[in-house]
Amino acid sequence: MDRFVDDDAGYLAWLEAHPRGYVLNTFPHMRSAYLVLHRTTCGTLNRRLAKGREWTHLYGKACSDDHAELADWAFRETGRSVHGCGTCGPPVEPVMSGGG
Ligand SMILES: [Zn+2]
Repeated sequence: MDRFVDDDAGYLAWLEAHPRGYVLNTFPHMRSAYLVLHRTTCGTLNRRLAKGREWTHLYGKACSDDHAELADWAFRETGRSVHGCGTCGPPVEPVMSGGG
């Protein structure tokens, strides 16, 4: 698994090198419950940004070819499950907690 925070060049290179990989959108320091899993081909990731905006400045990105690895890592770090992006529909493990 690779992480990119304030490293747009590294992040974009990873996307190109891993067309079948997955990207977990997070805040840089994992304080938030904001955890959304995407495929690298997702249109919300692979698009041009307006000038002056950056991919990894506000939201760190965690990248892996194995979506389960990202979900496991997020759960260890935050105790929360990831959510699958509604646009690209990546595979997401069922939430193990009860209730709801
Ligand atoms: Zn997506």
